[in-house]
Amino acid sequence: MIRVRFAPSPTGYLHVGSARTFIFNWLYARRNGGTMILRIDDTDLERNTEASLRSIFEGLQWLGLDWDEQYRQSERLDLHRQLAESILAKGLAYRDFTPAAAAETDDTEKPHAAGAWLANPGQREMSAEESDRRAAAGEPYVIRFRVPHGSGEVVRFHDAVYGEQSKSVDDIEDFALLRSSGAPTYHLASCADDVDLRITHVVRGQDHLTNTFKHVLIFRAAGIEPPQFAHLPLLIAPDGSKLSKRKHGPVVSVTTYRDSGFLPQAFINFLCLLGWSPKDDREKMTREELVGIFSFEGINRSNAVINFTEEDPFDAKAVWLNAEHIRTMPAASLSEALLPVVHAAGFAVTAEKMAQITPLIQERIRLLRDVLLVADFFFAQELAPYPATELIPKKGDAAMALRSLQKALETLATAEFTHDGLDAALRSAAESLGIKAGQMFEPIRVAVCGRKTAPPLFGTLEVLGREICLARIEQAIAKLNS
Ligand code: GLU
Repeated sequence: MIRVRFAPSPTGYLHVGSARTFIFNWLYARRNGGTMILRIDDTDLERNTEASLRSIFEGLQWLGLDWDEQYRQSERLDLHRQLAESILAKGLAYRDFTPAAAAETDDTEKPHAAGAWLANPGQREMSAEESDRRAAAGEPYVIRFRVPHGSGEVVRFHDAVYGEQSKSVDDIEDFALLRSSGAPTYHLASCADDVDLRITHVVRGQDHLTNTFKHVLIFRAAGIEPPQFAHLPLLIAPDGSKLSKRKHGPVVSVTTYRDSGFLPQAFINFLCLLGWSPKDDREKMTREELVGIFSFEGINRSNAVINFTEEDPFDAKAVWLNAEHIRTMPAASLSEALLPVVHAAGFAVTAEKMAQITPLIQERIRLLRDVLLVADFFFAQELAPYPATELIPKKGDAAMALRSLQKALETLATAEFTHDGLDAALRSAAESLGIKAGQMFEPIRVAVCGRKTAPPLFGTLEVLGREICLARIEQAIAKLNS
């Protein structure tokens, strides 16, 4: 039975890389009928914040991803300590009473420089009797893993992405398991929970690859076979640096994409293509399709670049995928997604009206917020000012525009206000004027929309309604006359 976990530390907003880690775990679980676990790694009391925890939940909620079990490490500290004690009892760890060791936290999830392991003379070799006596006397200590230095052993594991990994024990320092405060280090807490929660696959960022050697040692000391590992390539900025909020700003935070008009399903699709691709190289995929084809084999080892510039904060692929998802989703769902965006901009549009507008603009928006650019004339009472010259059709003049608009005014006063009714009425109006239909429609379009590029004319007129169309055409006539 497959059991995977996403284990964020609540020390910042939900990073795009973390979201991708969640998704890969989730896809693997859902594809294989496994269990998805959310484990909050909140043992670092100094760095945890409630705001960060909220941002993680908010981000996941927006993405619409679910999980089956949820834990907080801070509620499981006894379990972590028990593992440290049992490793100590087996002689596979020792107490380190040096004051420097007691003070240092050694909870870095970052790799130590090779060979930079702490050698605190006399600690490793201390007899069990002396160690027990000093502990009983209340002297503070750190519990350190006794890495079998000098044994010639090599720690090995197979990574589903990066292949066979090996490291000599001599290159692994005697790392801390339990701090003098009794708090577990990341290595201890993570492994103790992975053991207890019967995690079968650890899927996480490549920055944890070197930690895994320590974890393999802990799993073995705990008496169990390590889980399978799959480390994910890092997400990097166009300049090759690791993505960070400090350096790269809001493009790193999931909620930025939500607030800028990305659809959760499109954003999930985009994140999946960062470091993974399906065998058939398909790009646009629904969540269901992703669940159907996801596998670790498609993950590649090179870091994945998110492209952005100062002027253009979003990766072109992300925007393209978003447009594709918008184009192909049911108009009713799109309408529902657009409504809050329009309301947030201060327009009081009803759901019914939005449902009528949506099919007219579905092909024209890439981000949800584009609705405000392409459909503003549906929402606003007054058109944004435009120059009278816009009303003059190509290969025509002001007189032609005026005649067209006057005829349109007459026609629309009585025409049946349906797509087909308007189509028929305006075409025969053009014919009676002896003007090409296209030339007559140009000034009408500008008169009602305020610009030349706009959604299909008859549908637009129909949705705007007779009253507004007539008023705007009258205004256009006045503009031409003045
Ligand atoms: N809390 C760790 C992190 O945020 C979890 C790493 C792991 O999955 O073991 O990176």
